[in-house]
Amino acid sequence: MSGVRRVHHLNCGSFDSLASGPLVSHVLLCETKDGLVLVDSGIGRSDIASPRSRLGRVALALGPALRVEETAAHQIEALGYQLSDVRHIVATHLDYDHIGGALDFPHATVHTTAAELRTARARRRLPERLRYRRPHVEAITSFQTYDGTGEELLGLPAAHPILGVEDVWLVPMPGHSIGHAGVAVRTSNGWLFHAGDSFYHRAALSSSRSAPISRAAMLCAIELTLASIPAKVRANHQQLRKLAHDPSQRVAVFCAHDAALFDRLRAEQSPIFP
Ligand SMILES: [Zn+2]
Repeated sequence: MSGVRRVHHLNCGSFDSLASGPLVSHVLLCETKDGLVLVDSGIGRSDIASPRSRLGRVALALGPALRVEETAAHQIEALGYQLSDVRHIVATHLDYDHIGGALDFPHATVHTTAAELRTARARRRLPERLRYRRPHVEAITSFQTYDGTGEELLGLPAAHPILGVEDVWLVPMPGHSIGHAGVAVRTSNGWLFHAGDSFYHRAALSSSRSAPISRAAMLCAIELTLASIPAKVRANHQQLRKLAHDPSQRVAVFCAHDAALFDRLRAEQSPIFP
């Protein structure tokens, strides 16, 4: 039996712009024997209260919906939980749209790669100052970082078991950001792999060589523009494609912002795992 008893798929931040089309911020809320665990946290309440100063102009150009009802805090309270029930936040990376919601959970430990926290704190170059927002990074006071070789998991070479949480792993996948990672969750019904921003559109997982869909091509161009290590983006796609199509594993691979993948997983979500 898995330590993860139930998983909720939450959209914690819609965006819609001419260039990107409609996007979600796919967050997992895991009910575990170690308390509530979030995988990513979306946009937070204070971001919505002061979007210009908290998120910055680049984020606002992407058309964030900025709806309080979409915050993880609001949705978790609507499920009958208290914010203090969230004990851990496992972050794919520390961009504003993935870590902003963490500020609503002061009792939670943030888990991230050492490289990601180091880069976000340094904010040396302009792209890093745009993506890593100072109030978000400064609020990460309770944290656990992961570094080094890790262990093999699902054919991926360097996974780190999350300390204090059973059946959740951080899987470094640099490319989108220096310390970006995927997050693997083992449930009784199979595996979930939250790939964060390792791809933007589900077409990246397609094994067919059909002509690129215009929306997918546009998102791939945005993805390459935003990536800290563009040369790794395609290699990550390839690795995730292999994972998603591996017949020996049951792994649902999805990313943070693809609305169709979000809708599919939310519709399939099993209410209670046996
Ligand atoms: Zn993102």
